[in-house]
Amino acid sequence: MEDTIFSKIIRREVPAQIVYEDEHTLAFLDAHPINPGHTLVVPKKAVRNIFDVDPETFSLTLESVRKVAKALQEALSADGINIHINNEAPAGQAVFHLHIHVIPRYVSDGFKHWQGRTYSSGESEKIADKIRQAFA
Ligand code: AMP
Repeated sequence: MEDTIFSKIIRREVPAQIVYEDEHTLAFLDAHPINPGHTLVVPKKAVRNIFDVDPETFSLTLESVRKVAKALQEALSADGINIHINNEAPAGQAVFHLHIHVIPRYVSDGFKHWQGRTYSSGESEKIADKIRQAFA
C-alpha cells in the first residue's frame, strides 16, 4: 500500500492535533473542518478503505470513533454527530488510508443532508435482489 499523509501523522513525521490514541488507532483534527472539532479516526494499520479492512481492525477503529464522538459531545457541547467514511475517489476519498470522519453538529449550523430520490415502480425489488445475491 502507498505511504499516505496519515501514515506520516501516525509516525509523527507530519504534525497534527492528536486528540486520542490507543494501541491500534489514532484520532486527530481534520485540517479543513466542516465544524471546529471535526476529527479523523484512523487505524494505525495501513488499510485503504472499507473494501480491504479486516473485521478486527474495523471494530477497533469504530470503538475509537464511539469514544471520540462522546468526547466531542462533552467537550464542544455538540448537539449531534455525523460519522462518515468516503471509500474510493468517486465517493470522495482523497487520502487512501481508511479514516472515519467524526463531525460535531449544531442545531443551527446550516448544513443540510443529501436529498433523497424515490424509486421507480419495481426498481427497489430489483436493486434489493441484486444486493441479496451478493450475500449468496
Ligand atoms: P477524504 O475526502 O474522506 O479522503 O478526507 C480526507 C480529509 O483529510 C479531508 O477532510 C482533509 O481536510 C483531511 N486532511 C488532509 N491532509 C490532512 C492533514 N495533514 N492533517 C489533517 N487533516 C488532513
